[in-house]
Amino acid sequence: MTGARQFGEADITIDHLLTDSRSLCFPESTLFFAIKTPHGDGHTYIPDLYSRGVRAFVVQDLPDRAAMAPDSVYLQVENTLTALQRLAERKRETYDIPVIGITGSNGKTTVKEWLYQMLSPDMTVTRSPRSYNSQIGVPLSVWGLWEKSQIGIFEAGISQPGEMEALERIIQPTIGVFTGLGTAHQENFQSMEQKRQEKMKLFTHCQTVIMPTPGLTALEADRDLCRQVCRYLGMADDVIEQRLARLEPIAMRLEVKQGRHNCIIINDTYNSDMNSLGIALDFMNRRPDRADRQRVLILSDIQQSGIPPTQLYQHVAGYLHTHGIEHLIGIGPAISANADQFTNLATHCRFYPDTDTYLQSPDFAALRDSIVLIKGARQFHFEQITQALEQKVHETTLQVDLNAIVDNLNYYRTFLDPQTRIVCMVKADAYGAGAIEVSKTLQSQTQVGYLAVAVADEGAQLRSAGITKPIMVMNPQITGFDTLFEYHLEPEVYSFRLLDALIQAAEHAGITGMPIHIKLDTGMHRLGFDPETDMPRLIDRLQHQTALVPRSVFSHFVGSDSDSFDPFSAEQYRRYQFGADTLQAAFPHHILRHMDNTAGIEHFPQRQMDMVRLGLGLYGINPRDNSIINNVTTLQTTILQIHDVKSNETVGYSRRGQLTRDSRIAAIPIGYADGWNRHLGNRNAYALVHGQPAPYVGNICMDVSMIDVTDIQCHEGDPVILFGRDLPPTILAQAIDTIPYEILTSVSHRVKRVYYQE
Ligand SMILES: *Cc1c(COP(=O)(O)O)cnc(C)c1O
Repeated sequence: MTGARQFGEADITIDHLLTDSRSLCFPESTLFFAIKTPHGDGHTYIPDLYSRGVRAFVVQDLPDRAAMAPDSVYLQVENTLTALQRLAERKRETYDIPVIGITGSNGKTTVKEWLYQMLSPDMTVTRSPRSYNSQIGVPLSVWGLWEKSQIGIFEAGISQPGEMEALERIIQPTIGVFTGLGTAHQENFQSMEQKRQEKMKLFTHCQTVIMPTPGLTALEADRDLCRQVCRYLGMADDVIEQRLARLEPIAMRLEVKQGRHNCIIINDTYNSDMNSLGIALDFMNRRPDRADRQRVLILSDIQQSGIPPTQLYQHVAGYLHTHGIEHLIGIGPAISANADQFTNLATHCRFYPDTDTYLQSPDFAALRDSIVLIKGARQFHFEQITQALEQKVHETTLQVDLNAIVDNLNYYRTFLDPQTRIVCMVKADAYGAGAIEVSKTLQSQTQVGYLAVAVADEGAQLRSAGITKPIMVMNPQITGFDTLFEYHLEPEVYSFRLLDALIQAAEHAGITGMPIHIKLDTGMHRLGFDPETDMPRLIDRLQHQTALVPRSVFSHFVGSDSDSFDPFSAEQYRRYQFGADTLQAAFPHHILRHMDNTAGIEHFPQRQMDMVRLGLGLYGINPRDNSIINNVTTLQTTILQIHDVKSNETVGYSRRGQLTRDSRIAAIPIGYADGWNRHLGNRNAYALVHGQPAPYVGNICMDVSMIDVTDIQCHEGDPVILFGRDLPPTILAQAIDTIPYEILTSVSHRVKRVYYQE
């Protein structure tokens, strides 16, 4: 089917296709595709997969005959991604059923899930898990078709021209659904028209294409599409309206939260089918801090799977086994009735008829020191469990989109050569986003060579959370050396005083060959050795000891964000090169060079050298033009109370908030003790309530602020956005004459961070 050449023999029946070694569950029946991307090479994972039991590999590069395992099969193809796509195409061709192909800029996943909710009472539906809509995700989705499938629903997403033809050949949709056109992924298209034409290629062979009636809001348009598709499939109008009325909102996130009793909660109430169970278990197992915590799965009945219950729960039991789940809480009549499918596992299992019974049980009360995956169909109302487990300290949260961080990393990768390493700056608690979660997300990204923190204690925290990547410490304190040694942290060294103290401490601790990073001062005049005058003494000092080894030499641009400093940046670069060349000439090993920060990566890609240091850009803000790349953090709160206040009254301390009309004033729980700058008050800035600006009235207090909602329809308890996609920190920064860095890093630790992945 793929035109492969076969090497080796083995008798294997393949059920599962794998492209990401971390997702391995069923080694005996898995075919691994070693895919090469700009960011990684699947071939490097073959030995590991072999040791975990995989015996069938699709490869581009064949290992040496000697390295080829005798009991394995290698299928060699020209391009492994194309082979994966070919295989999915052949599989698709064997199904003569209606297949819905969905594309468009927004709402694909919502429409897909809603169609599933509407169609699944009558037929067995196979659909893309979550938003698997890429060149790899689509073939893996289509591979999910099986003998019982009566209809397929698949999403197709593209980011550049030429991709849709491949997806069309795999999905072969008979019914097309187009959700509309927006600006996402515009960078690779010359115009909206070009993007529209590309997307339309999905529909080349469709019998019908459905588009939303013009003039509807986004939400109405999604419902309208579902209505039209069901009508086309012959569903009666009254049934359609009944089911539309019952549609559940789609939360497409896996949320990670800090819970009571030292628990970590992974909340996935999105749906409870087998595919998404696999993905969620995977997500749980990729978290490095799981090692010392018990793994608990709280799972409801799995509904509408089309698989007989015995077989279904046998499958689930297989998942629990392969993912090392220590404790299962099964909730619902069906899973309880199939309890005997779980008896042979090492997993400790308990079953409850419904959510309330579980919440009242001693089992629930005893839950502690665990990582808990909560996964259930909507009707079981597992949000009650999440709420009961959550630590509620403060109603203001900083929500962090971990996918967006990866997207931003990939955005900056486009300026870099594949071999250039990236130092990801996670100092200042990852610019306020939370260094631990951000580092966990970044450390598995291949081009990332280092994480960088400000002080040793931040590095120690990362190590304690299971981070294994090399960590650079930009501001080592003379009192923190033991922490550096103990946690294998690599300090920046910028002065002779620091260097001498470090050598002495390292020699005293019996350390040799510790990597350090030499900083040169080329114009910032903050920290660093002078490349003109200090090099001979620095080299002499380094050559006469063995405790430390210069691993890299670097400097920092003072104005890479602005064209007006280009001549000075060039001068800095010249001074840097002089110093770096001098240092390098004194040592036989290669000393890594780096200078570009976020703005530099984009503005001076020709100065990327061995490494670059990516900071603000990771967190979604382009320092060159203050635009948002992919929004990462959203600071959100809720309205505590609303007052109708008469004109001529005042709001807040010192009567600063003079009202000139009868007003509605909402109080929100954020103040300067949360890091919310007092200068934002007195109408210098605004928050967003239902998308509309609500200016701050009067002085910002310690824990509370007041906003003017006179012109906005809203109620107590409604959400308020303090910053986020529609109100970038850059706007707040401009209002109070500072920079977005300060807004991001000021949000205090008492504001709870909530992490999610799409
Ligand atoms: C913080 C920092 C960076 C990152 O700067 P951004 O402007 O956020 O990219 C790079 N290098 C050094 C030395 C830093 O201290």
